[in-house]
Amino acid sequence: VRSMTLASRPTGQPTAQNFALTETAMPEPAEGEVLVRVIWLSLDPYMRGRMDDAKSYAPPVEIGGIMEGGAVGEVIASRHAGFSEGDIALGAFGWTSHAALPGDALRKVDPAIAPIQTALGVLGMPGITAWVGVNRIIGIQQGETALISAATGAVGTLAGQLAQIKGARAIGVAGGEEKCAYATSELGYAACLDHKALDAAGLKEALAAAAPGGVDGYFENVGGKTLEAALSGMNDHGRIALCGMIAWYSGRGLDEAMSLPAAWRAILVKRLKVEGFIIFDHMHLYPEFLAEVAPMVKDGRIRYRESIAEGLEAAPDAFISMLEGGNFGKQLVRVGDD
Ligand code: NDP
Repeated sequence: VRSMTLASRPTGQPTAQNFALTETAMPEPAEGEVLVRVIWLSLDPYMRGRMDDAKSYAPPVEIGGIMEGGAVGEVIASRHAGFSEGDIALGAFGWTSHAALPGDALRKVDPAIAPIQTALGVLGMPGITAWVGVNRIIGIQQGETALISAATGAVGTLAGQLAQIKGARAIGVAGGEEKCAYATSELGYAACLDHKALDAAGLKEALAAAAPGGVDGYFENVGGKTLEAALSGMNDHGRIALCGMIAWYSGRGLDEAMSLPAAWRAILVKRLKVEGFIIFDHMHLYPEFLAEVAPMVKDGRIRYRESIAEGLEAAPDAFISMLEGGNFGKQLVRVGDD
């Protein structure tokens, strides 16, 4: 069994030295457990938080511990009535080639719905995050304008398309010309602002031009100057789904951040409703989400894109790169053969 462990805690941006590959013996599944050969590993921004020894909504990874992560794999031995050899299962296997977990903690993946790795992306945790944020937190309505940051990422890709399905006009923010071109030509965004080409004032201006009627709902994934522009572009009584703030995850950009009094004031004078949410609290909605979104993924009405790193040893660099926008769509690692 090959696993990627946390060798040391990063200060600021993580580096390859924070990770170490280890080899251990193959585990035996205990009664009620399922042994899985991992095929796809998901890389997600929240993993940056797990590398710090700081209080959050989930405990950190221990030094020497296997990096946490959702993954999809093939059942190779089962001592759980719900799983048989050959089944495809989703679980928190971590950055590893094989893992034995209680069957009760796993979900079966139906390969007939879509490629199995979509259980980590558009039909998985990022997907339901987009769906809850757009429909339940913002509650976007027909004819409204929605702004989505990290617009071509795992969450943003679906958030933008779901907002359009609800009859809203979607405006994206993404890093670089290529991502912005994809956002407008493939994902249906009415406009996409390139945060790499614009400073805070430029972003505000570009947003005002792209959304002359103002923004009713903001799907917040990034913080930084994008948040600043969003606050300036919000309409009175607008709603913000506070999903993430990746621009600040490694302690970057804190010096240039807008002042808290200015942000607080914008929320007050515009009577905004801001709601933070953590998707764990909403997982009971998964069947409803899947029933609604899976058919649209299957028939191509919903598009998505993936960035694939080859092999567990490639995971650290792919993860570090993703935090800076190196991914284009859902970042995955192919750990084993499909
Ligand atoms: P993405 O696939 O969107 O990848 C992260 C993206 O963040 C990068 O590709 C990059 O896109 C963007 N980014 C990085 N730095 C900056 C910056 N300084 N300014 C603007 N954009 C930046 O990841 P996910 O879709 O998995 O996650 C998106 C957000 O949602 C994250 O903040 C994540 O933590 C959050 N999240 C929250 C959940 C919850 O329960 N609350 C659940 C799942 C995700 P670009 O190249 O366009 O800049």
